[in-house]
Amino acid sequence: MPHGQDVEHENAPDEASKYECLHCGDIVESESHPGACDCGGQFQNRAKSLE
Ligand SMILES: [Zn+2]
Repeated sequence: MPHGQDVEHENAPDEASKYECLHCGDIVESESHPGACDCGGQFQNRAKSLE
């Protein structure tokens, strides 16, 4: 009987990005932009380097 090699599938998981509220500093991990924070501030994707 055929015995194939096991192939490792690199399954890219849904990567969650971290978003930090620019107003209160709250950090949320989400796959998509979480929108507005409870405090009313805007979330900034922490993956992006902001200088
Ligand atoms: Zn906030």
